Amino acid sequence: MRILVIEDEQKLGQALREGLEVEQYGVALAHTGEEGFYRVLTESFDLVILDVMLPCRSGVEILASMRQHGFKTPVLMLTARDTVDDRVRGLDAGADDYLVKPFAFPELLARVRALSRRGIGETSPRLRVGDLEVDVIGRSVTRGGQALELTAREFELLEYLVRHQGHVVSREMLTRDVWKEAGRHTPLDNVIDVHVARLRRKIDDQFDHKLVHTVRGVGFVVREEQD
Ligand code: CA
Repeated sequence: MRILVIEDEQKLGQALREGLEVEQYGVALAHTGEEGFYRVLTESFDLVILDVMLPCRSGVEILASMRQHGFKTPVLMLTARDTVDDRVRGLDAGADDYLVKPFAFPELLARVRALSRRGIGETSPRLRVGDLEVDVIGRSVTRGGQALELTAREFELLEYLVRHQGHVVSREMLTRDVWKEAGRHTPLDNVIDVHVARLRRKIDDQFDHKLVHTVRGVGFVVREEQD
């Protein structure tokens, strides 16, 4: 599997290349959008990791050009801020998934694995657990076909839990990866617990099979309950 990383920040680009190579991916690194676009045109890749904030032509423009030229290669966008604008523009231009900087490397690997499992041409990646479906691009959630209304934070929390389904997620992980406050001194535990409780009311209360489970002293896990 060959991955093209288009990232102008030298250190980050290098770190991504080394990390992905450890996982046995073939990696090419481009430092500008033009160079990246040229390589897309002339070489063959299974996945493109594309930074939005690039000098001259932005990642969104590069992506739009790729799609106009008929390249269906899955694209994982790296956005600097989790603004709706950035995300919507990237998704409108044809991104398959996105990741907000700063991110933890295992998070990137999980996205890369998910995208590499998907067939080319399948547009919206949906995460599923039981009868719950999370549309990460459209930012919508259904359970048993019924739409659920979540706040932005609840959605991020659910998306994170579902991406880690079957694995226990600690409050430290949520602080770092969902709240993006790794450096804070006072724990966010109460805030997190309140959000998990609200999420649970929306996701589980009216259903027999519970999906969000508390693991005492550790954190939370999303999994389908067996009968
Ligand atoms: Ca950049």
